[in-house]
Amino acid sequence: LDTPSKGAYAPLTREIIDRIRENIGERFVISDPERMDHYSGDATELRCCPELVVEPTSKEQIQALFGLANDFHFPITPRGLGTGLAGGCVPWSGGVVLSLAKMNRILSIDTENLIAIVEPGVINGDLKRAAESCGLFYPPDPASLDTCSIGGNAATNAGGASCVKYGTTRDYVLGLEAVLPSGELIQAGVRTRKGVVGYSLAQLLVGSEGTLAVITQLILRLIPRPPAVSGLVALFADLPSAMRSVTSVLTRGHIPSAMEFMDRRCLGLVRGLLPFDGLDRTGALLLIETDGTPEAVEKEMERIGLICLEGGAENVFMAPDAIKRARIWEVRRRISLRIEENAQVYIPEDVVVPIGRIADFVSCLSEIEERFDMKIYTFGHAGDGNIHLNITVENRQTLGRVAEGIRVVLEKVLAMGGTISGEHGVGLVKKRFLPLELSPVSVRIQNEIKNTFDPLRILNPGKIFEQCAGG
Ligand SMILES: Cc1cc2nc3c(=O)[nH]c(=O)nc-3n(C[C@H](O)[C@H](O)[C@H](O)COP(=O)(O)OP(=O)(O)OC[C@H]3O[C@@H](n4cnc5c(N)ncnc54)[C@H](O)[C@@H]3O)c2cc1C
Repeated sequence: LDTPSKGAYAPLTREIIDRIRENIGERFVISDPERMDHYSGDATELRCCPELVVEPTSKEQIQALFGLANDFHFPITPRGLGTGLAGGCVPWSGGVVLSLAKMNRILSIDTENLIAIVEPGVINGDLKRAAESCGLFYPPDPASLDTCSIGGNAATNAGGASCVKYGTTRDYVLGLEAVLPSGELIQAGVRTRKGVVGYSLAQLLVGSEGTLAVITQLILRLIPRPPAVSGLVALFADLPSAMRSVTSVLTRGHIPSAMEFMDRRCLGLVRGLLPFDGLDRTGALLLIETDGTPEAVEKEMERIGLICLEGGAENVFMAPDAIKRARIWEVRRRISLRIEENAQVYIPEDVVVPIGRIADFVSCLSEIEERFDMKIYTFGHAGDGNIHLNITVENRQTLGRVAEGIRVVLEKVLAMGGTISGEHGVGLVKKRFLPLELSPVSVRIQNEIKNTFDPLRILNPGKIFEQCAGG
């Protein structure tokens, strides 16, 4: 990683801080170092203390903050709830962290037009529950759903288990409102199911990791809540057989609403927490769910169970009851935290390979582990080919070799036609690998887009591309 580059910007002097307090309001500003510490990092190990935190409740305050940033040239780093896995909200160039956590109102759920209008700090799980109470469904479900914000989800184009059927956050953002680095307010996108007028700026901002604008409101598509959900858990002797079954299920015409997996190492950590016997001999677990009408769900589950048995599953547990389902999901969603708790060094990668290559990809991991002195715990969204590689390292002195190993893994992914990140984004942590995937022309055009939005480099500098003031 680059070292933090605070020197590229003027420090926040007492005069500037006073002007921020006057313009934004005293109670929306945090300057106490102990309280600011909370805003210095995300779910990675990266930390860099901001010079000031602003936690507004209105877009006008954000516009005023950008007005001052333009005058005094200090950087602003947007932050949702700090669960990111790429260092995107870490204030690497100092300046102000702009926390959107207090802009957390669900403004409306329109049951006639199937849309929700929300502020960016709304917690994903809160929106899901609010939609459900109206008989509607907001599908995007990152495993962090009870701790991450919808604004952060849009900025990272978050995915989750339901992507295999329902797609990512991008598929639900119809329109948005955002403050540009100039301080201007922009409305982008539509409130309708379709719209093709002009370039799709809303979709450009989705996934831009807070480098182009600060999202202050979102218009989200909702869908009717599926009446029934059912699932199965299939146990396999090894990971490649499980992955071959995943491909068979998908190529034989099924679209499950979730298709998650855990390998032997992950099961070693959470076996005792799962409500099934016989897991000590298991090499891989698949959790597959479908949703729809009760009759359709039952039939589809039976067919998928048979495909897993044909594919070598040693055991298939059909239709776990609600308590067991909730337990399995809780374990699945917390698995990365369990791995991290047990590791000296923890590096989460989230590659994606084409679904037909998943089995080949996982087969080559043990050789890479041995060669580069690292352990890889794999779990993730099998149905999307989105494999979370959770790399742990016993000895910090071997980190150089591990970095080499990660590069080899990413090169393999790309050679198979995959991508180096399916969900977490680039932020700070994957910046150096960007040229492996993007051509110089693509990087140049993306830099030009950044320039158009943020010519003074005051918004989240140093992220995705090698940019900071004067860069
Ligand atoms: C246990 C765990 C499980 C996870 N599982 C998943 C998963 O299944 N799928 C997945 O996709 N991710 C997952 N993540 C990663 C993370 O939760 C997502 O990236 C999430 O979308 C981040 O939301 P946040 O509110 O925490 O954003 P933050 O971490 O605060 O910010 C993330 C990025 O968004 C920008 N940003 C935030 N808010 C705004 C805004 N209003 N306007 C402009 N830019 C903004 C920030 O600058 C930063 O670049 C997981 C993380 C953890 C810790």
